Amino acid sequence: MQEKIQSLRARIDTLNLKILELVSERASVAAEIGALQSSMGSSQYDPVREQTMLDALVAANRGPFDAATVKSLFKQIFQASMQQSQKQEKRAYLTSRATHGTDTVVTVRGVPIGSKHSPVLVAGPCAIESEEQVEAVAAQVASRGVKLFRGGAYKPRTDPYSFQGLGEEGLRIGREACDRHDLAFVSEIMTPSDLPLFEEYVDLLQVGARNMQNFHLLRTVGRSGKPVLLKRGLSATIEEWLMAAEYLLNEGNPNVILCERGIRTFEQYTRNTLDVSAVALAKLESHLPVLVDVTHSGGRRDLLVALTKAGLAVGADGIMVEVHPNPAIALSDTKQQIDFPAFDRYLDDTGYHAKLSEKRVELYGF
Ligand code: PEP
Ligand code: MN
Repeated sequence: MQEKIQSLRARIDTLNLKILELVSERASVAAEIGALQSSMGSSQYDPVREQTMLDALVAANRGPFDAATVKSLFKQIFQASMQQSQKQEKRAYLTSRATHGTDTVVTVRGVPIGSKHSPVLVAGPCAIESEEQVEAVAAQVASRGVKLFRGGAYKPRTDPYSFQGLGEEGLRIGREACDRHDLAFVSEIMTPSDLPLFEEYVDLLQVGARNMQNFHLLRTVGRSGKPVLLKRGLSATIEEWLMAAEYLLNEGNPNVILCERGIRTFEQYTRNTLDVSAVALAKLESHLPVLVDVTHSGGRRDLLVALTKAGLAVGADGIMVEVHPNPAIALSDTKQQIDFPAFDRYLDDTGYHAKLSEKRVELYGF
């Protein structure tokens, strides 16, 4: 009796292997079909075809399984081979950690951003308004250890009659002040044809929230040798944000920094809602450095310290904050820029004072 069982079990083992061989062969044929269909832009799942196959199997079934069991067994096989071919079809995105395992470090005018480097601080006015204003802010932030200066020369404004920025003159003012104070210059580009101008003046090209899906602009700055700071769109999903970064990488620019700047929600107490999970997720999903713009996120001075701490706690590689000599008379974002004494308090309260000193040691050895 025992011998008989042993030999039947051996037959079962052989049959198992045959079934495995057959389902594996079936999976590779299904994957071939899937690849052909996706190259034609059509979906692999065809419910009519599935029903025809099940009907044929039920008709051919001579037992012992009943029709429902045969259907459910084969449905499992169909599903498994489809999942397998979808897995093989999944595109390897350049922004993904699956493609690029190590953290990307973007170096902007000698300042490394990302990975284990100390979190940077990008500080400066919302808009470049005058020679005097820029000189005052650049001198102030540089004296506090800041290495990256921001300032918009082309401003994306909701109201077409409000201050639009000084244009090329603003870029020149920003560049000269940055050179005087050994700062990297970050400024927003809105128009693809302005790229040569920006390449002459700035160290880091900012693509603003309103242009995150301006694909022509993305392709253009993706072909630049300058690093890019890509803000998340006002209502962009994390996937859309990463896809926008994909445009830049796909054009050959590997030096991309993501920047979460708050998203539109129903909340009225804040200008936008800082999406901290997006910061953590962007760090998990992609290898790119991520900054948090705390000024535009909350739109409130009294939240700058809390949002900075939150951003750094979830792994941000740096923070962007707006500083103005006299925010009350600023030509844009008057409610949320901070003056110099407030900037000093901000540095103390966020711990950035120490961080910037550490960074000085790391960079310059003193
Ligand atoms: C800015 O940083 O100057 C700006 C306009 O920000 P955002 O594109 O995030 O609104
Ligand atoms: Mn602003």
